[in-house]
Amino acid sequence: MGLLSGKTAIITGASKGIGKGIAETFAKQGANVAFTFLSSVEKGQALEQELQQYGTQVKGYRSDASKMDDAEALVAQVVEDFGGVHIVVNNAGITKDTLLMRMTEEDFNRVIEVNLNSVFNMTKAVQRTFLKQRSGSIINISSVVGVKGNAGQANYAASKAGIIGFTKSVALELGSRNIRCNAIAPGFIETEMTAVLDEKTVQQWRDGIPLKRGGSAEDVANACLFLASDMSGYITGQVMNVCGGMLT
Ligand code: NAD
Repeated sequence: MGLLSGKTAIITGASKGIGKGIAETFAKQGANVAFTFLSSVEKGQALEQELQQYGTQVKGYRSDASKMDDAEALVAQVVEDFGGVHIVVNNAGITKDTLLMRMTEEDFNRVIEVNLNSVFNMTKAVQRTFLKQRSGSIINISSVVGVKGNAGQANYAASKAGIIGFTKSVALELGSRNIRCNAIAPGFIETEMTAVLDEKTVQQWRDGIPLKRGGSAEDVANACLFLASDMSGYITGQVMNVCGGMLT
């Protein structure tokens, strides 16, 4: 018996990185997992295969989180395939980093669409199902950058701060129906993406973190597990910083 036995979770953008870590942790804890990917069909299939070992129901869906129609179609399909949904993790995200001086309108809008509209789309799409069952947990992946800002990431920081305001508002609106909504703000998480960076630079980042290491996808996944499970039944509208002490 895992912490998520009998529950079905939708996780967006799970073909790699943090999303993949969340899918693995959730399946290990007994959840049925419906995950999305955008273009990496092979990686999606590989994850579907890998997650079979935990013995729960698992399925990957090609779905663009920035599109409302895709979100609605996804939730309808998941409800049909799995018989319901109890947890949504809005993880899909992108960066288009550059100084404001060089940032185009397209750079700004695309990051907002993928990172922030996606959270609105999925929350809207799942709302009716959650209201009917009078329960649900929504977990939105923000960032420490959304809390404190970062030079060269005005678009990304705006999208991640927007997620926090959205999360707190949804928690207030839907609390009376036992629907919880929380955000996680990861700090520096080491994934395939950061593995290609210059080791000296990465070591400097690690040295600046109180716990003296970058986080892992599993560190973020464990926080998601807590917020998804009934262990956090009295917690809503919160931002949990998973950052090794970067923010205090
Ligand atoms: P990643 O690039 O490895 O993974 C992002 C995932 O989102 C990918 O699977 C990608 O295919 C998917 N995606 C992108 N656009 C999509 C779309 N339109 N529709 C559906 N899926 C889409 O990055 P990651 O580091 O694993 O980041 C995951 C989340 O965590 C993001 O929201 C990111 O902003 C956030 N985050 C990451 C860090 C970090 O240090 N890695 C820190 C703070 C927050």
